[in-house]
Amino acid sequence: MSFKSTYLQGVYENVCKRNAGETEFLQAVREVLESLEPVVEKRDDLVKAGIIDRIVEPERFIQFRVSWVDDNGTVQVNRGFRVQFNSAIGPYKGGLRLHPTVCASVIKFLGFEQIFKNSLTGLPMGGGKGGSDFDPKGKSDAEVMRFCQSFMTELSKHIGADTDVPAGDIGVGAREIGYMFGQYKRLRNEFTGVLTGKGLSYGGSLARTQATGYGLLYFTQEMLKSMKKDSMAGKTVVISGSGNVAIYATEKAVEMGAKVVALSDSNGYIYDPNGVNLDVVKQIKEVERGRISEYVKRVSGAEYHEGCKQIWTVKCDIALPCATQNELDQESAKALIANGVIAVAEGANMPSTPEAVEEFLKAGVMFAPAKAANAGGVATSGLEMSQNSMRYSWSFEEVDSKLKGIMENIFHNAYNASKEYGAEGNLVMGANIAGFLKVADAMKWQGV
Ligand code: GLU
Repeated sequence: MSFKSTYLQGVYENVCKRNAGETEFLQAVREVLESLEPVVEKRDDLVKAGIIDRIVEPERFIQFRVSWVDDNGTVQVNRGFRVQFNSAIGPYKGGLRLHPTVCASVIKFLGFEQIFKNSLTGLPMGGGKGGSDFDPKGKSDAEVMRFCQSFMTELSKHIGADTDVPAGDIGVGAREIGYMFGQYKRLRNEFTGVLTGKGLSYGGSLARTQATGYGLLYFTQEMLKSMKKDSMAGKTVVISGSGNVAIYATEKAVEMGAKVVALSDSNGYIYDPNGVNLDVVKQIKEVERGRISEYVKRVSGAEYHEGCKQIWTVKCDIALPCATQNELDQESAKALIANGVIAVAEGANMPSTPEAVEEFLKAGVMFAPAKAANAGGVATSGLEMSQNSMRYSWSFEEVDSKLKGIMENIFHNAYNASKEYGAEGNLVMGANIAGFLKVADAMKWQGV
């Protein structure tokens, strides 16, 4: 499919040429550019200022070697990345991912998405992302520490509390942030809010751990309420993944009166018709760092099925993909629709393929794209930055209520933008347009 606007077509062809073979990045760019068709028609000033040509090119892309010594004394080498994609509205901000699939394309797609997501939060944060192809699975605590220290030794040259503020993502939680923060402090002799997602005893924010999952549910609740006068109460929910986002999405969904019947990891999924027991899941995942299959050994009446994709065949009202990119394809979307799903909200980044999104929109399923629906994590990181700057900390309730307000705001901004630009209710377009306009105006005012 080509673009209606020859200008957008040209921009996209250039991006393809410059980033040949980077499929995830090209997928993310294509989706945003498609949403900008009506903006290009209305805002010639932005076209003249070359905003779209500029926004698809990272301001800076850093790649580096990460050498570390494993427990056997063998030297290991990984590849580290940080993309500083856009700083028009604030310091670069975005997580670090540690996973074997991490490569330039994945980091660039995540960094690009982060620009619009961060803009939607209403907080002053630019877009960035980083990570490494290091696989924390099966590594000892000491190995993870040595890797994180080596990674930060190079990364520290490029970041700072007012320059670029990394945080967690897949494979990076409180433990890794702690090791990295310790190394930054050792190298710089500086105690600043250079990372978010920190431990509570050294500058972390209450509610940051819960924020992405809770935020996803605040968004979903607002979407149900505004678009269908409905709510989460009494709904059956399927959530893929079983990491930080999935766990706290489950917690909030249950608090809102819903029943979560399935969770997964990269090997398979569990189905518990009675509603998953979250204490058991937390013990397995957060304490033991084990596999989700463990669950059925501890809870009677639950089933385990090999193959994570099959989770989308479980009947539900609400589907929340919270695992990873492109985990929900066209076939899965069709299965969900056939089973009567009413809303899909993305907790992971870009978990639905473009074909799946199209199926949902065609079928009239309410669809909340990641950059709007999962913005609660980075929004609360923004609140952590504010608290660090003030050298002060807010109560859990205070942060949580700010988070809720931000998520409701994001929904309404995305919805209103979809309406203003002729696609009422299409939150993919609404989120892309609303996120884009703020950054685009800032870039225009700041000159070339
Ligand atoms: N990794 C999260 C995201 O995808 C959070 C980033 C942050 O807190 O900076 O938005």
